[in-house]
Amino acid sequence: MNPGPARSRRLNQRNGPTFDSLRPILPVNSAVSDDDVLLIGGCSVDELAATYGTPLYVYDEAGLRAQARSLSDGLKARWPNSEVLFASKSFPAVAMYRLAAEEGLSIDVAGLGELQFALAAAVPPGRIYLHGNAKSDDEIRLAVESRIAAIIADNTDDLHRIARIATEPQSVILRVIPGVAPDVHESQSTGGDDSKFGVPLDQLSGIVELIGTLPNVELVGIHLHIGSQVLETEPFVRAVEAIARVGEYPVYDIGGGLGVQYTFEDEAPTVDAYLDAVVDAASRVLPAGAKLLIEPGRSIVARAGVTLYRVNTVKRSGKTFVAVDGGMADNMDVALTGQRYEALVANRVNGGNAEVVDLVGRQCESGDKLRGDVALNEPKVGDLVVMTTTGAYAYTMANNYNGALRPAVVFCADGRSRRVVARETIDDLLRLQEPASV
Ligand SMILES: *Cc1c(COP(=O)(O)O)cnc(C)c1O
Repeated sequence: MNPGPARSRRLNQRNGPTFDSLRPILPVNSAVSDDDVLLIGGCSVDELAATYGTPLYVYDEAGLRAQARSLSDGLKARWPNSEVLFASKSFPAVAMYRLAAEEGLSIDVAGLGELQFALAAAVPPGRIYLHGNAKSDDEIRLAVESRIAAIIADNTDDLHRIARIATEPQSVILRVIPGVAPDVHESQSTGGDDSKFGVPLDQLSGIVELIGTLPNVELVGIHLHIGSQVLETEPFVRAVEAIARVGEYPVYDIGGGLGVQYTFEDEAPTVDAYLDAVVDAASRVLPAGAKLLIEPGRSIVARAGVTLYRVNTVKRSGKTFVAVDGGMADNMDVALTGQRYEALVANRVNGGNAEVVDLVGRQCESGDKLRGDVALNEPKVGDLVVMTTTGAYAYTMANNYNGALRPAVVFCADGRSRRVVARETIDDLLRLQEPASV
């Protein structure tokens, strides 16, 4: 008997997600309660939703800490003269800057706002590095006055600004375009010849000569960054080889970009495999006494975070659409980079019959589809849906599309939750609007 198109999209339970199948992409400290509700850091998501509302960014705090440690301890063990810089644009919450500093990481910031966040989190200035391809006088001034570790110069305008503003020697790391283009989404590739970031290698000697003439600009090293969500180790080996060819410097910063597993199908290198590859290459080609910096963002925070939504609508038309109370206002990544995520009904983790649906957001764009063709366990209005691995770049790019209020962020550990970012309120938005004259 032909089951027909509608029936064929209903799966039996064995084909639906289960906690065990989701385990590799859920936060490390996840579990299911006796009544089939997802727990993150020991906190039940239905209690989190009741306490903080939805949409909500929920982080497994111990998972964040463990991942940060595995990178910083792992690099130190292999190359003692090193620092791991948390690429803070991946999750720019003051609590995260604090957490990274507590776990032994330094911080890279891009822009005045992130620099101010790092300072607000009491990150020691000697562990802050400033990036940016269009730095302003204000940024350079605050960086210089705060005595941050180094400014990563992207262009000669940066160098002239530093020379004009600094009154004492300022350490500078020069960003070059490495000519290494990994196989990632166009929006995430920064290492190719057409990159807007960094200086081309054929201009390097002229720039080094220029630096020699500029007061208080002290060139200490070279930086490169090949891109993001890189799912192989080999491009990082090429990056290390490329930076070694630039010449001998005290500091080599090879950027970030280690990819993570988002879907059941993805395969991402482990932290150990990545560090082995980087340090093997460094041992071969870099001066033994050099300082090695890496700048992971996504790989520290992605898996530890999920987004918790409430189902507002289930529409069965040509397809089944499960529409939640968030969307591209709290997750731009799908629209920007085509990233695929997994999702589950968080109050029915193992139970119910699975149905293949389109999980969509509530913003007025057809592109506001959180995930097409995902198997959810008997989705109903009022259910809680968790989208997994949203810890990186989701909070970063949250916006007010359709008047959406940017969600709160909570950290959960040992069954206790704490709010680290408040939910935006309508008053926050209206405060910026001039009252209409009527
Ligand atoms: C974005 C960025 C990173 C971090 O990239 P991830 O993919 O999140 O690890 C590191 N360095 C620079 C310069 C970046 O722009």
